[in-house]
Amino acid sequence: MEHEMRAEYEEGVLPHEDTPVKIWHMVRLDGTTAMCGRPLAPAAATQAADVWGTPKAEPFCHTCGAMYLREHPQDTG
Ligand SMILES: [Zn+2]
Repeated sequence: MEHEMRAEYEEGVLPHEDTPVKIWHMVRLDGTTAMCGRPLAPAAATQAADVWGTPKAEPFCHTCGAMYLREHPQDTG
């Protein structure tokens, strides 16, 4: 497991467990920059990459999804 999801929030919103997630991105473990290049807050919520493709990961960044798919074609089921 070398990736995890990290949440992006509306601009100016501080990450909090009750904060609605604007969109999920995929990041490499121990990083805070999404695969699509967007910098994400270190305090933003994360969840396992296993959740990718399930309702819990919606909405999901299309750019990150395409890049993750290219690196992990075996994960698509
Ligand atoms: Zn992204």
